[in-house]
Amino acid sequence: MNGDGKSCDGLPPLRDVVATYDLAARKSLGQNFLFDLNLTGRIARAAGPLAGVTVVEVGPGPGGLTRALLTEGAARVIAVERDERCLAALADVAAAYPGRLQVVEGDALETDWRALVAGISGPVRLCANLPYNIGTVLLAGWLETDPWPPWFDRMILMFQREVAERIVATPAQRVDYGRLGVLAGWRAQARILFDVPPSAFSPPPKVTSSVVELIPREKPLPCNGKILTAVTASAFNQRRKMLRQSLKGLAVNGRTLDALELLKAAGIEETKRAEEVDVAGFATLARMAEEMGG
Ligand code: SAM
Repeated sequence: MNGDGKSCDGLPPLRDVVATYDLAARKSLGQNFLFDLNLTGRIARAAGPLAGVTVVEVGPGPGGLTRALLTEGAARVIAVERDERCLAALADVAAAYPGRLQVVEGDALETDWRALVAGISGPVRLCANLPYNIGTVLLAGWLETDPWPPWFDRMILMFQREVAERIVATPAQRVDYGRLGVLAGWRAQARILFDVPPSAFSPPPKVTSSVVELIPREKPLPCNGKILTAVTASAFNQRRKMLRQSLKGLAVNGRTLDALELLKAAGIEETKRAEEVDVAGFATLARMAEEMGG
């Protein structure tokens, strides 16, 4: 594919697809479409090499990234789209790549991902330009999935730059470091690959976007994900307060824990704040909380 609108798959330029099928972007669905084939190709290559790989895409829309993934050699793309207006355009893509595109009409928030990919042989990878309004909820769901290692071998996802920074943050970036950074750091190695300016989208969003790569850790530090989430929620909800204060009221298995006892058991100073505790510290807190709440 190239950037002047011509494609090597014989399908019309994306602007024409959007006009033909009257796909005026809807804000409520987080629709900011990519028309630049160089850019969709770059995102698809970031997910590659794709030979033998099944790619799960959320929100194919008019099919720009979908086409790039197929052109770059994905064995198969399973695309979950909520907007039924996009289905006719996606049917054209499916016809251009026989047997390689499965479009699922539905809500990504309600999707049973394991069932979706059940029976597929070979690696499964997530690649998507996510609707900005549900991006973090979807990511948290994929990171919290059990059993682990998960059903995907890698995630290449586009978020708003500010969200991307929170995903890759460590205690060194205090302002950005929070629940999402702990969850992502616990289960994956995350990094920002490149930025995408607002002008690349139609309509242009207000802010810059970033493509993030998340590679699942084979052996995350042992702890219960739900308890880790409860601990980080409690700690970061009052991020300016010391942990001896912010962890007060933390309950595990219906039992309210003694914050001082918990911090002592985890070997973490009671005067520390959430943003000073790294992922290993939170995993230890979650393990101790589970012991004390059990
Ligand atoms: N992939 C296309 C592209 O890059 O041009 C469109 C990306 S656009 C940012 C987000 C897409 O997600 C839209 O097509 C929108 O309809 C779809 N979407 C929004 N909410 C969804 C949901 N809950 N489940 C599935 N798809 C959704």
